[in-house]
Amino acid sequence: MLLIECPWCGPRAETEFSYGGEAGIARPADPDALSDAEWADYLFYRSNPKGAHRELWNHDHGCRRWFGVERDTATYRIERSYVLSHTGSDAATGSDAATNAGTGYSSGNGD
Ligand SMILES: [Zn+2]
Repeated sequence: MLLIECPWCGPRAETEFSYGGEAGIARPADPDALSDAEWADYLFYRSNPKGAHRELWNHDHGCRRWFGVERDTATYRIERSYVLSHTGSDAATGSDAATNAGTGYSSGNGD
């Protein structure tokens, strides 16, 4: 089981959270200008990398807030979690970023 650090509540079991998909997908500024293929690409196609991946998570059974997580999809190691910015970007910013870098939260070790 993953141990995920909510930026507001601290480390909690994976079962308290729901996955929200890939982070950093910007909504097109003018959706009406897109072709059907471009709109479908925005809605449905994601990168699915093996390795570092930025994800959205919601603390459903806690504070109910959305936040970002950087996780390695091959090892499940979570590098950090962070507060989403108010500008629509998911980049961590200054002092409002919560991080658990280097804590080694991961699955596969019985916790
Ligand atoms: Zn929380």
